[in-house]
Amino acid sequence: MTDTSADLVILGGGSGGYAAAFRAAELGLSVTLIEKDKLGGTCLHRGCIPTKALLHAAEVADETREAEAVGVKAAFEGIDIAGVNKYKDGIIARLYKGLQGLAKAHKVNLVEGSGTFVGGTTVEVDGTRYTGKNVILATGSYSRTLPGLELGGRIIASEQALALDYVPKKVVVLGGGVIGVEFASVWASFGVDVTIVEALPRLVPNEDEFASKQLERAFRRRKIAFKTGVKFTGAKQDDNGVSVSLESGETIEADLLLVAVGRGPNSAGHGYEEAGVKIERGFVLTDERLRTNLPNVFAVGDIVPGLQLAHRGFQQGIFVAEEIAGLNPRVIDESGIPRVTYSHPEVASVGLTESQAKDKYGSDVTTFTYDLGGNGKSQILKTSGGVKLIKAPDGPVVGVHMVGDRVGELIGEAQLIYSWEAFPEDVAPLIHAHPTQTEALGEAFLALAGKPLHVHS
Ligand SMILES: Cc1cc2nc3c(=O)[nH]c(=O)nc-3n(C[C@H](O)[C@H](O)[C@H](O)COP(=O)(O)OP(=O)(O)OC[C@H]3O[C@@H](n4cnc5c(N)ncnc54)[C@H](O)[C@@H]3O)c2cc1C
Repeated sequence: MTDTSADLVILGGGSGGYAAAFRAAELGLSVTLIEKDKLGGTCLHRGCIPTKALLHAAEVADETREAEAVGVKAAFEGIDIAGVNKYKDGIIARLYKGLQGLAKAHKVNLVEGSGTFVGGTTVEVDGTRYTGKNVILATGSYSRTLPGLELGGRIIASEQALALDYVPKKVVVLGGGVIGVEFASVWASFGVDVTIVEALPRLVPNEDEFASKQLERAFRRRKIAFKTGVKFTGAKQDDNGVSVSLESGETIEADLLLVAVGRGPNSAGHGYEEAGVKIERGFVLTDERLRTNLPNVFAVGDIVPGLQLAHRGFQQGIFVAEEIAGLNPRVIDESGIPRVTYSHPEVASVGLTESQAKDKYGSDVTTFTYDLGGNGKSQILKTSGGVKLIKAPDGPVVGVHMVGDRVGELIGEAQLIYSWEAFPEDVAPLIHAHPTQTEALGEAFLALAGKPLHVHS
């Protein structure tokens, strides 16, 4: 058995793992990165990037169908799924190549194979031991299902949904969170009859109620059916289809059932528990500096409790690399992590929801909602929705919530405002270009600072 040493050994080459590897290399550390599948992980190969490519194809389909409304002659003839997949896979391939180039440029020692953490600061791959001065666990997450609901055949998770080589006629989506809502949006644009089933009382239940209501209204207009506050009880499949039963006694027949009930931490089978890593409900527990209970063993990304988002993984990876290099980086504020659901329309938010703000600051929080109906660019794009701000009593803005096509692009400014703990008076004098959707944010801040411009009372 050979033993290879490095300053840092990282198990898992997804968003969290590779970000740590690149930053550590920049800081002059020698890095071994162990990946059993493909560098880039879930986000690049089975998550963020392919879903957003499908959503863009869906947007083009909708624009083509609705071209006449802006005086453009075009005929929508249908979806060529092979063409859609070629477009999607081409993007992944280009980004994957770029990422491999970056790993090489950073002189990261990329080890292909399945690693097991054997304790101390050592990971074993096919009989070779890699020992670091520090280790980062970054093995990511997997698609969850419900007890008694086995994935297979017509019952699929997001991985299979991304690899479909046909457009189904009818789909039931189990789960109205981010992933469920995004796939429902794509399929509806592709002409599929979609029904979402969500046990909680509203779609995107982690968002502010305002966002759920706006999204539900838009989905109703798009004829995307959804049943909220209703529990799934079972599914049966045969050669002809899948039959989905609900607690209400109702049964829905479909070609496919997409199970989108969340993602579980991929922490089993890699030696963690055996080596004494503290784990709760499958998640690897860390302190705010992302240290596990074992010395010199850190964890980042989806295996750590909190938002399962790629940019959180990137930031955590950078944080740990800098921590190890002794730079004493600033602790990551989880509530400052921007959240975007890329459906049509999009939902974007940062900070607290109104109910979270009321729990924290009492009932005196102030809110203001600006309707995109008053925003010129949104009217040009024919999108509706709004921007909702939440302000602490005598304090800064503590939450920004937005719904509308392309509002995901506004989250950068919203996140800066939130993270800088800005007061409406700080933002109101800043000028937003006209006509852009950023003006909707600007208008909301003007109004909250007591000087509304394009606001109908
Ligand atoms: C359908 C879908 C859409 C999404 N869309 C978005 C989005 O739009 N924006 C966003 O921010 N996030 C999105 N996410 C979430 C995002 O993909 C994850 O938050 C992110 O990938 C987590 O990064 P990670 O490094 O923790 O894990 P992963 O990316 O899962 O990487 C873990 C890596 O570890 C490897 N690995 C596991 N075990 C071992 C082992 N024993 N040995 C060696 N290697 C191992 C795996 O092969 C994998 O490559 C989406 C997820 C899904 C499923």
